[in-house]
Amino acid sequence: MTTGPVIVVGAGPAGMAAALAMHRIGHEVMLLERYSEALPAGSGLSLFAPVVKALAALGVDTRDLGAPCSVVFERQDGRVLADIKFPPEVGAYGGGFFGLLRPALYRRMSAALPAGVLQPDRTVTGIKDRGDDVLVELADGERISAALVIGADGINSTVRTTLWGPSPIREHRLHVLCGFTFDLPPSARRDVCAIGLDGVIQASYSEIVDDGRRGHQWWIIEAWDPETPPPADLHERAAKLAADYGSPMPDLVAATRPEDVFRWQIRDRKPIKKWSKGRVTLAGDSAHATSPYAAYGAGMGIGDGYFLGQVLAGVDLADRDAVTAALRRYEDHRVHHTSSQVQLAYILGQVLHRVPAPLRPVRDLFLNRSGILQKRVGEKSPGEIVAQLEEMDDRVFSLR
Ligand SMILES: Cc1cc2nc3c(=O)[nH]c(=O)nc-3n(C[C@H](O)[C@H](O)[C@H](O)COP(=O)(O)OP(=O)(O)OC[C@H]3O[C@@H](n4cnc5c(N)ncnc54)[C@H](O)[C@@H]3O)c2cc1C
Repeated sequence: MTTGPVIVVGAGPAGMAAALAMHRIGHEVMLLERYSEALPAGSGLSLFAPVVKALAALGVDTRDLGAPCSVVFERQDGRVLADIKFPPEVGAYGGGFFGLLRPALYRRMSAALPAGVLQPDRTVTGIKDRGDDVLVELADGERISAALVIGADGINSTVRTTLWGPSPIREHRLHVLCGFTFDLPPSARRDVCAIGLDGVIQASYSEIVDDGRRGHQWWIIEAWDPETPPPADLHERAAKLAADYGSPMPDLVAATRPEDVFRWQIRDRKPIKKWSKGRVTLAGDSAHATSPYAAYGAGMGIGDGYFLGQVLAGVDLADRDAVTAALRRYEDHRVHHTSSQVQLAYILGQVLHRVPAPLRPVRDLFLNRSGILQKRVGEKSPGEIVAQLEEMDDRVFSLR
């Protein structure tokens, strides 16, 4: 008979959300993190209303978590390619799209975890599903018997490899330069996330709120082969690319301190269609590593944690069949949604940045004239957001 806790591997957004969900539905939970704390990688972050709803249901303080923004896709010359009109339903969560800094999210999620749940400096090296339990092996030699293991250990997940074998990294051959500033130039726009597209570079910005301070985050995506060394001076490179864009992009980059500029080579893994086996499942990037093109990787991981709670509420973890049935329901909620987001982010990146030069005029004519972005993003996203909000059942999370 299984009596062990649920073990969540990895204290990123997905792992913290899964641990919070398990706690809220009354299952004993341990969150094992290899580093000495939940370490936020990078700077800015954008979250959508369903993610804010999930965080609030999981007990995270979401008051003034980020700056609510409207979202437009525009050409360098200001021509609008898509304008997302968020539906009235998102008003209950403060807005449709939020700009914030990643450390603020980590601070608030960790603060919501009960003392002792997050166990730092604990690296998981192996898992063995023994039928009645899962044996979790740690780098320090300790072994723990768990009723359920949730692998939220990121793009290079040990848990996913153990369950499903190795899968290759997919290089998008793009990189992103990003930064933030609270030293706002007069040209900065309030309440807006503007995704700027020209033939080869995406240069975008949004308002952020961080501990009550208003500022801006910005990001620039360009084609960049992983074999090519990174630019020697990230700030200088970003300023050069931003110069081709209209106000406020160059001003925002100029106002950013060089130490607040970051770079990532963009890569993902092809989404897998099955996440769970027996008493082990996946959440977040371990299941669906994605390009930041969709600005949704952390959001999807938090959603995974939420839905794990929704399907496992009231389930007797000693009952293996009940656990596997609940994990099937979890996959029904999440696999199709997250896989299509990963593929959309990949395709957008390739179409907007990796099309050969002779074909770009045709692509641009199509993008400008067909209204495809307005149809696919501007008109479809609001409906998808409402559908996600309706799929969520917060009632299971009132503390037992
Ligand atoms: C430039 C950039 C911009 C982005 N912007 C956005 C955005 O605007 N909005 C958004 O929603 N997403 C964004 N993302 C994506 C987002 O950052 C990731 O999808 C998200 O961090 C994934 O969360 P996770 O918890 O699944 O994995 P991770 O954040 O990778 O966390 C995994 C955790 O597991 C731990 N771990 C790994 N192996 C082990 C082990 N064996 N034992 C114990 N612990 C282990 C790691 O130390 C880590 O803490 C962006 C990503 C990038 C690169």
